[in-house]
Amino acid sequence: MQQIPQYFNCGADGSDMFGYIICNSCKSKLGLFTEATIAKNITNYKESSKKLSYEDEIKRRLDFVEKDYIKKNLKLKYILEQVKKNKLMIILKNG
Ligand SMILES: [Zn+2]
Repeated sequence: MQQIPQYFNCGADGSDMFGYIICNSCKSKLGLFTEATIAKNITNYKESSKKLSYEDEIKRRLDFVEKDYIKKNLKLKYILEQVKKNKLMIILKNG
C-alpha cells in the first residue's frame, strides 16, 4: 500500500520530503544542515569517542521523537476526551 503524501504546514504545493509535501519557504525554515555540516558532524562525533556511530545516534533521536510524539498525542487526546465527558455531565446535571 502506497503512502499518500500529506501537505505540511502552510499547505502550499512543493516537493515530497519523506512523505510530506513541503513548499520551498517552509523547507527553508527547517534549518536543514548542509552536506558539509553533516560530514563535519560525522567526523566530530567519531573523535568524541561515543559508543554509537553518528548514524545510530540520529536513528536513536528519531526513535525518541517518534515515541515522544505518540506519548504527547495520547495524553492530549485523553484530556480532550475527559473535557468532552465533563461538558456532557454538566449539561446533563443542569438540564
Ligand atoms: Zn509552506
